[in-house]
Amino acid sequence: MEPAFTEHPESTATLVATLTTPPAGDLGTTAAGADWLEVRADLVGDLDPAPLRKVFPGPLLYTLRSRAEGGGSEMSADRRKRRLIEAAERYDYIDLEASRDLTPDVLRAVPAEKRVISWHGPATDAVGLRDIFQKMAPTEAALYKLVPTANQPGEELGVLLFLHALERRDRRDVAAFAAGKAGTWTRFVAPRLGAPVIYAALSEKAPGAPGQVSLRRLRDDYGFPSLPRVEALYGIVGNPVTHSLSPRLHNGAYRELGIPAAYLPFQTESFGEFWLEIVESGVPEALGMPLRGLSVTAPFKEAALAVAGAESPIASLIGAANTLVCNQGCWEAESTDPEGVVLPLKDRGIDPSKLRAAVVGAGGAGRSAAAGLAKAGAEVVLVNRGSDRGERSARLLRLPFLLLADFDPSGFDLIVQATSVGRSPSETLPFDVGALRPGTVVIDLVYGEKPTPLLLAAADRGAVTIDGREVLLDQALGQFRMMTGRELPVPLARRLLGLDAGPNGETVDSGGKGGSA
Ligand code: NAP
Repeated sequence: MEPAFTEHPESTATLVATLTTPPAGDLGTTAAGADWLEVRADLVGDLDPAPLRKVFPGPLLYTLRSRAEGGGSEMSADRRKRRLIEAAERYDYIDLEASRDLTPDVLRAVPAEKRVISWHGPATDAVGLRDIFQKMAPTEAALYKLVPTANQPGEELGVLLFLHALERRDRRDVAAFAAGKAGTWTRFVAPRLGAPVIYAALSEKAPGAPGQVSLRRLRDDYGFPSLPRVEALYGIVGNPVTHSLSPRLHNGAYRELGIPAAYLPFQTESFGEFWLEIVESGVPEALGMPLRGLSVTAPFKEAALAVAGAESPIASLIGAANTLVCNQGCWEAESTDPEGVVLPLKDRGIDPSKLRAAVVGAGGAGRSAAAGLAKAGAEVVLVNRGSDRGERSARLLRLPFLLLADFDPSGFDLIVQATSVGRSPSETLPFDVGALRPGTVVIDLVYGEKPTPLLLAAADRGAVTIDGREVLLDQALGQFRMMTGRELPVPLARRLLGLDAGPNGETVDSGGKGGSA
């Protein structure tokens, strides 16, 4: 049979956007850029394709995901058959579950070129996936799709090893990736191993399949549909990582500079297990894409230091690292977070040595900010909700400590918000913004696509506000240099992060910025 994806050169993936809620009036806009639209009939019912075709020009895929395979459809075998057969007359592709739909009457009604034969199940290794695929393969199809769910670190590797070993890779008719948040990164690697398609949630708000990212993020943060050469992997490890703008920043810079690498989201519950099962597994190397560097975010910055073979003086002082880079087989730990808070002040002509500063939050990020400010000459007080971590951190940095309950914001020129709260408007702010003196500088390390509720409230009080995205950019300067040996293009980075030109309206130049890392 002719492969279904010949219209796409090997350097491009087919983007399949998944419709999981009834179509809204702006479907044409939200689905723009997708190649196929998957209608999850188990969630939205049997939609008439005619109005969809008016706003979406690409092929329509009909999926009736059964409850047994993680979907919402539960009905008699006869009724299921009837719906699939009817859909075959109106849709371009039909998802057939290998475990229940490959009956003679369904196969007669759904010709091979319309079939997407799928399997969704528990975590399975490469050998198990090969066995499942061998049972599917005798039934001709346009696409075969295998999706095990990864719950534990390492369980997601089976899909990649399976694709890598597949002898029919050049036919580009097998997609395999791991479902679940821990498996998200396999969705991005699979197309580099011959998988012709990548599935995306239609929007940030639409509930996608577990671990699925939105169409917009696929394009903006990961550069899909194009598949440039990848010779090394980097990524961000944390819990959560889905909100992080680091993939957009790093992947955007790789594209601009022609660096053959991909920067991936590694979400995990356990840093130790991630390290053992992924970093030390040897699998990325076996796939021809060795893991060369990691950004580390909450809550693993302390754990990151523990796995490193070497650490910088500032990382040792802080007791945490936000960067791990593999240098000739040795993982080196660094903390570029201190630069993230000091550089935005200097960019605004604010001299840190003249400031009385409070850093609220004594985790890895708070300690980094406090160490950076103290080194730059500020008078720093460390503030924390709990006394255990607060006192321990203050002792480490030889700084005074204050309980958050006793903290009065009116006594400071600079406040750094370094707790993990404040991304959503429903969360209570960690301190009373109403008590700020006008002119106080407020840096919120927490960030989103827009200024956080804390920054909006502080700006209303007449504070000078510094967005966590700017902190992200300034800590990324040293990180990017350590990881790639190149300079992060700052004007591009500001654009990617949605930041305006520099604080004084100028475009900030990377020359002279960023400390050693
Ligand atoms: P962490 O090590 O997990 O520390 C979390 C801190 O938040 C602790 O001090 C904790 O206090 C405090 N906290 C948690 N919930 C709280 C609450 N409800 N009220 C008051 N305090 C609370 O995290 P981290 O690595 O330091 O990171 C902190 C945040 O900064 C994260 O959101 C991270 O994404 C962000 N960050 C941003 C950048 C950037 O570039 N913009 C860089 C680094 C970090 P207890 O000790 O009392 O639990």
